Amino acid sequence: MALEFWDIAADRLRKSLGNNNYKSWIEPLQFVGESGGAAEFFVPTSFFGNYVRQHFEDQILFQMRESGIDVSRATFSVGRLDQKPAARLTTPAVVAAVKPREIQGAKLDQRFVFENFVVGKPNELAHAAAKRVAEAGPVTFNPLFLYGGVGLGKTHLMHSIAWELQSNRPDINVMYLSAEQFMYRFVQALRERKMMDFKELFRSVDVLMVDDVQFIGGKDSTQEEFFHTFNALVDQNKQIIISADRAPGEIKQLEDRIASRLQCGLVVDLHPTTYELRLGILQSKIELYQSSYPGIEVRQEVVEFLAHRISTNVRVLEGALTRLFAFASLVGREITVELTQDCLSDILRASDRKVTVEEIQRKVSDHYNIRLSDMLGPKRLRSFARPRQIAMYLCKQLTSRSLPEIGRRFGGRDHTTVMHGVRKIEDLRNQDSQMSDDLDLLRRSLEA
Ligand code: ADP
Ligand code: MG
Repeated sequence: MALEFWDIAADRLRKSLGNNNYKSWIEPLQFVGESGGAAEFFVPTSFFGNYVRQHFEDQILFQMRESGIDVSRATFSVGRLDQKPAARLTTPAVVAAVKPREIQGAKLDQRFVFENFVVGKPNELAHAAAKRVAEAGPVTFNPLFLYGGVGLGKTHLMHSIAWELQSNRPDINVMYLSAEQFMYRFVQALRERKMMDFKELFRSVDVLMVDDVQFIGGKDSTQEEFFHTFNALVDQNKQIIISADRAPGEIKQLEDRIASRLQCGLVVDLHPTTYELRLGILQSKIELYQSSYPGIEVRQEVVEFLAHRISTNVRVLEGALTRLFAFASLVGREITVELTQDCLSDILRASDRKVTVEEIQRKVSDHYNIRLSDMLGPKRLRSFARPRQIAMYLCKQLTSRSLPEIGRRFGGRDHTTVMHGVRKIEDLRNQDSQMSDDLDLLRRSLEA
């Protein structure tokens, strides 16, 4: 009933706010219902929700009341009513992990499938190993232990394995859960005196996946139970897949016998993302975003800027892109570097790698075998000027300094000189593969 009233209210909003606002901000709202005087909406992102709350909440409530829905406030939460299983980027659309039998693991994220995982040097081994276990062939390494820093794709790979197993081998029982959930279930079983059930459950799975196993460090009885479960499954030749934020031997307060057991199979690490991988991930996510935000273009230089400036954590990269698209749809123009800097200043600051102008100058002068004083000094000889321009270019790319600031640090040069240098190197980079290799090398060693 309320839904129909919402249609009426939405129609009024279209008239009062204009078509553009309506299309950008009202149409994407999903009216969930009214409860206790609050109108509940799903929104695609929290940025979107905040924006609508700030700018349109009063209007929305007014038009709803005018249309006969008795509401005094609104809630905007990230979510979606119609969940399409296609590759999507919005909302934590989650579905039950396993067959609706008694074996219930944690939820799996629909976006975390192999198709959405971009493979590059830093994660190719982990990806290959994940693919292998997802085939559910004979168990060749047990366990598969994936480790790496935050936001590098461990959970994504684990969910991908689970999805693939479920579709390839519906006959086998796959259980995915976090180490925390394992502990929670264990404690609950103890409390309810259902340890037999607990043991039986965990011993009846064919593939067990435990995410973030570092969590059990220091939790002695959980470790003990985990160890028994682990051994029982390995004895039955059941596949186990574990993830952690560090190598088995480095997990704090983890019993040695467990650490050594965890190393028995294949241990693979996900390395921090490289510039190239970030570029690949950005490109693939942008394509996905463009299906939800048609008409928004992202310039190549913006993609490069983001890949340079945002830390190795892919989650942060995704967050930046989400906001950028929402912002661009709001201002209704192309995404430029300036827009990006404005809209993401906080994220950019936080993930600044803190490469300093001085470090860049030192590194570049070492690389080209010139003295620092020649780089900063007035000489215009090509053999000094080129490295100087390269250093300026890297300062622009890797630090948050403005052109005038960079100029000042290069012996008090004018910002137009810096701009000229940066452009020159951009051009050369595109024409000269030696130059582009040099730049990559320098950047990598600065970021390391
Ligand atoms: P972790 O579990 O290692 O902390 P996640 O698997 O949760 O990291 O990944 C964080 C986010 O980054 C997820 O949204 C995931 O989809 C995305 N992500 C990470 N690596 C990749 C990749 N190689 N390709 C595409 N998306 C990725
Ligand atoms: Mg994770």
